[in-house]
Amino acid sequence: MIKIKDWRSYISSIREKDKDINSFLEFADDTSAGTGLISGETLLSRETLLSRVPFGVKDNIAVTGMRLTCGSKMLENFVSPYDATAVAKLKAAGAVPAGKTNLDEFGMGSSTDNSALAVTNNPWDLSRVCGGSSGGSAAAVAAGLVPFALGTDTGGSVRQPASFCGVYGLKPTYGVVSRFGLVAYASSLEVCGIIADTVETTREVFNIIKGKDGNDQTSVEHLPASPEAESIAVLSGELGLSSEVMAGYQKAVDGFKASGYGIIEVELPMLEYGIAAYYTIAMAEASANLARYNGVRYGHRSASAEGFDDLVRKSRDEGFGDEVKLRILLGTYVLRSGFQDQYYTRAQKIRTAVRNEFDKVFGRADLMMMPTFPTAAFRHGNSGLDQFQQKLADKFTVAANLAGIPALSIPVSVENGLPVGMQLMAPVFAEERLFAAADKLALQLPPAVCPGKMEGF
Ligand code: GLN
Repeated sequence: MIKIKDWRSYISSIREKDKDINSFLEFADDTSAGTGLISGETLLSRETLLSRVPFGVKDNIAVTGMRLTCGSKMLENFVSPYDATAVAKLKAAGAVPAGKTNLDEFGMGSSTDNSALAVTNNPWDLSRVCGGSSGGSAAAVAAGLVPFALGTDTGGSVRQPASFCGVYGLKPTYGVVSRFGLVAYASSLEVCGIIADTVETTREVFNIIKGKDGNDQTSVEHLPASPEAESIAVLSGELGLSSEVMAGYQKAVDGFKASGYGIIEVELPMLEYGIAAYYTIAMAEASANLARYNGVRYGHRSASAEGFDDLVRKSRDEGFGDEVKLRILLGTYVLRSGFQDQYYTRAQKIRTAVRNEFDKVFGRADLMMMPTFPTAAFRHGNSGLDQFQQKLADKFTVAANLAGIPALSIPVSVENGLPVGMQLMAPVFAEERLFAAADKLALQLPPAVCPGKMEGF
């Protein structure tokens, strides 16, 4: 089905549609990089997904000639001179970046409200957040502006916004997708992921962007694990979910049972310590990764500085937002000389223990299911979750990053008008097992379409 005939009318229609949602920070025709793309009468067709099909790119992933702001004043005017490997592979397959999507500053947050540049609204309910940190990507896909978008997942940032917006969100196995061209937040945890409106598109994009890359020494070749699965582990005991998420959880369990999977209850005692370990490691790595923004080589440079030290201090003070500063300070604190044993080394031990617990679970079951987030999309501002509550609520997503395993958030239901997602986790390299299970579940629980979704793909 081809509804959109040429790039110029396509970009102007998504620009119009995005006025209320604000998922994009930049469109392809805002810069010279896009003008070549939008000329001509190129047809866009979903049937040949990756030939001339547009996609969104989270604005911490490099696209040649487009800005790379990371949602920060620090990089507001920075234009990337190169493509991230994932972007280059998609371009080589024929797909075309439609623009850059909003995010929590440097990927730090769960709402996209930590962006210093724009407020993105959830297309299901504009008074609510779209999730984060890849919130712009999820909102753009849910609204039908693009069939898929790239995001990054350090502690849940692809899966959680996907669940808030009723779309699929894949966090691949650590290292399977190159991080070359991703602006680093916490390098040992993060991976480039995919947000899409169907399982098929998620799978297709994954198969294109995966693989070892000479530009990323932590990248690995994907060695596909068996896609077969008979059993799904779920957590026993009280999960602390909102009534909406509880309802979605029950439907997903019933849906998987109806698809023929056996459900096995397991315990994951280390989950309780996951948040403390994740934030200790993430902040420590962030404090090192963000040291490069000193106002000297690129990024914001204070106009009022006197001397080098003053330049660095003022540029960082003016360029970073509060949440980023908090994390740099805490990261520096946990790494300070003589105290690593107390925080960082301990967090690494918890990380190993989490990984061991998953190994045990996958000795008993082929997959594991957990809620993606304890609540559906919350409201902007004071009536939503505060920054601390948001961090605690990352408890289900951070586990996969600590363990390095793949996880897919699946839209399972709509409760009180808001989508609810469940995440399915698998052993390393078993992405195909996730896709196969999601395909089966979609027959029982077909994903709902966001009201007002733009037609075209
Ligand atoms: N919400 C988590 C955080 O703020 C996850 C972010 C991410 O995955 N980039 O760190």
